[in-house]
Amino acid sequence: MSLTSQIKEYALNIGYSKIGIIPAEDFPEYIEDLTKRSDMYGFYVKSPNRPLAVADLKSLMPTAKSIITTVYDYAQKGFPKELTNKIGRVYQARSYDPPSEYINGARPELMRTFLRKLGCEVGENIILPERLVAAKAGITNYGRNSFAYAEGIGSFIYLKSFIVDKELEYDNPTMKEVCPEGCSACMKACPTKAIYEPHKINPPRCIAFNTFLTQERIAGSYIQPEIREKMGTKIQGCDICQEVCPLNQERLKSKLPDDEYLVKVARDFSLSQVLNMTDNFYETRVQPLLFNYIKERKYFQRNAAIALGNQGDPAFVPNLAIAMDDPEELVRGYAAWALGKIGGRSASQVLVDNLSKETSESVKTEIRQALATIKISDEQN
Ligand code: SF4
Ligand code: SF4
Repeated sequence: MSLTSQIKEYALNIGYSKIGIIPAEDFPEYIEDLTKRSDMYGFYVKSPNRPLAVADLKSLMPTAKSIITTVYDYAQKGFPKELTNKIGRVYQARSYDPPSEYINGARPELMRTFLRKLGCEVGENIILPERLVAAKAGITNYGRNSFAYAEGIGSFIYLKSFIVDKELEYDNPTMKEVCPEGCSACMKACPTKAIYEPHKINPPRCIAFNTFLTQERIAGSYIQPEIREKMGTKIQGCDICQEVCPLNQERLKSKLPDDEYLVKVARDFSLSQVLNMTDNFYETRVQPLLFNYIKERKYFQRNAAIALGNQGDPAFVPNLAIAMDDPEELVRGYAAWALGKIGGRSASQVLVDNLSKETSESVKTEIRQALATIKISDEQN
């Protein structure tokens, strides 16, 4: 069996749904697009991941000859609705680059070990434009929502590539759009109009991007009030433009077996618990499920505060009052916003009480803005 066949069979054997291979070359079209839209992608271009470095792949790995790319279908089991309105499916499925002690982190490790056993040198820590790589390798196509779609699966897929120093047999690109003529369901459904034209997303307007605004990733954690209001109850990721897509309906409507782990998590996962997080909740519920992107608990708390504000239920005022005593000013500031959004006399009183003792200028600003816009009707207490 050829080296290529051995690699492809092994990938399918360990659970990847598709595998393709391309020569290890630069990605000028990717660099050109990022550079053209630097007003929207400035955060990424400057990030420590060095995305523009792929313009000179050979400087990252001088021996690079081939890129092996894979599709993992992460929607093989069901997702509890209690979680789906809060957390994107890829995170629920623990598929987004988890540590190697988890099954979806072990799979790429198995792949690397196998490739090394076959005598390949395997590149480490090189960030690739995965959607472009997969399309060039003929294993996915594009939707107008910018997601990659794999034939027979849809867009609930995770792409992972491996760079090796061996020449292999290469696949033909697909690079086509899969959308039915006239469909724009994703663009219409996007609450923030982040998809501003087919195949173009403005990340700073995307809810998923905003849930991930953290100091270490993007060097900023401020979510614009206009976006906060549109985040609904999402605390990590957003699947709306994939949920409405006709190409995903077959999967979404099929009766999938339960993921017993998620069923267990969903039983005791609530926004108020995320907001007023105990060490135990963080270690047993947040970390094992959401180990990616967001590393510090204060960002989950921020997102939960926004989500509770958007629910508008006065029953959450006591939870937000506790959050106003949180040692993190980020949490206090967003709790103040949420109290303003919920409104009513008790929310207003919590804001007034905290304004007098607050020491952070940014939190005081949030409190003052909340008090300036808060609605108090006679029925509310
Ligand atoms: S992930 Fe959500 S916010 Fe982002 S483009 Fe899709 S629907 Fe819009
Ligand atoms: S919703 Fe329609 S336009 Fe958007 S990605 Fe799906 S098929 Fe394409």
